[in-house]
Amino acid sequence: MDGSGDAHALLGMDDFVVLATTDEDGECFVLVETRERVVGCPSCGVIASGHGRSIIQVRDLPMGDRATRLVWRKRRYLCRDVGCEKRTFTEESELVEHALTRRAAMEICRRVGEDGHSVAQVARELGTSWWTAMAAVRRHGTPLVEDPSRLDGVRSLGVDEHKMLSATRRHHSFYATSFVDIERGRLLDVVPGRSADDVAYWCFGATQTWKAGVETVAIDPHRGYANGLFRGLPGAVVTIDHFHAIKLANEAINDVRRRTQNETLGHRGHRDDPLYRTRRLMTRGWERLAPHQRDRLLTALRAGDPDGEVGACILGKELLREVYAARSLPVAKQRLEIFYSHVAWAEVRELARLGRTVRAWETEILNFHVTGASNGATEAQNLITEKIRRTGHGFRNFENYRLRLLLHSGVKWNTRPTARIRGRHPRLVA
Ligand SMILES: [Zn+2]
Repeated sequence: MDGSGDAHALLGMDDFVVLATTDEDGECFVLVETRERVVGCPSCGVIASGHGRSIIQVRDLPMGDRATRLVWRKRRYLCRDVGCEKRTFTEESELVEHALTRRAAMEICRRVGEDGHSVAQVARELGTSWWTAMAAVRRHGTPLVEDPSRLDGVRSLGVDEHKMLSATRRHHSFYATSFVDIERGRLLDVVPGRSADDVAYWCFGATQTWKAGVETVAIDPHRGYANGLFRGLPGAVVTIDHFHAIKLANEAINDVRRRTQNETLGHRGHRDDPLYRTRRLMTRGWERLAPHQRDRLLTALRAGDPDGEVGACILGKELLREVYAARSLPVAKQRLEIFYSHVAWAEVRELARLGRTVRAWETEILNFHVTGASNGATEAQNLITEKIRRTGHGFRNFENYRLRLLLHSGVKWNTRPTARIRGRHPRLVA
């Protein structure tokens, strides 16, 4: 036995032979070299002769809980052609790259990308620097993300904005726009900004075939987006989904609640205020409230909403929900009229504003009943985005941010499943 079988089992690295392994200070050292073979000079091709060794150390995957260091006795060669400029050279292996074994680099990329772990955590566990780990993520992740087939066959596109970095004393908040394949629930891309131009620019980069394939687009009621999309995807039906419309209605409820609190109590929300205490019940669907919660809400409104303005806004939200819950387009249209007449009758400033927004987006809202497209997948993606953003403690580098998000939710990982131990023994026992 020449030890190469060991190397293969231990390293999964065919070209290498394990010479020795030791344990020092809880760290595992594996001394390796390549098999001996005839080597030609990379410059002139003349057969080279051995010329000593140089030793390099790289990180490999941990063995159990021990960090592992591969100590590679690299062969040095001397070109036998006296006229050659190359003189001496050192062997290379594609299994070792930038202070890491290739498989360690790939595992770092997978842990950060697929598992969504932080670069700092993975770097710490492997015993490498943040920079080395992040470089491995870039090296192995970028080809996955830039693979153009990732964007193939999108029929239903969701577009949504989210905050990438919150404002501090030194900078404003940074926003980004995500593009999601709603049907398959996959992140397609993230671009900086949230204006019509930012969206249009992304669409501009797509091929004609791709653009023609997009049948529906679900968006946040953000005028800028629509403008960008109408320019980029003229054939797609634009919809405002349920989630975003109700989010607007809930903002109206919160605004009128705060104003009412100010007017009746002379201060902002306080935990003893009846309205403040029931604020979460106000934005929840009425049918989802338990009887005692409905009682609490109605009691709070009797106590803290003398003009019935908050109540009118809550009813407005429920009527808008009814529009979305309608089973057909004609019923949705009827219910929208009921919503409008309630808004007109109530004469509440915030509700009137909501009514104007709904009217401006009426076609897109009713399109929900034409296409059935929902932005639910985009919303789910926003939650994942938030998780990654927290893991990364806020990103300052947009390219890193985009890479991390796309590796987590935009690419397919072909992770080999581990076989369960049962029955068959490996050959070494037999
Ligand atoms: Zn040479």
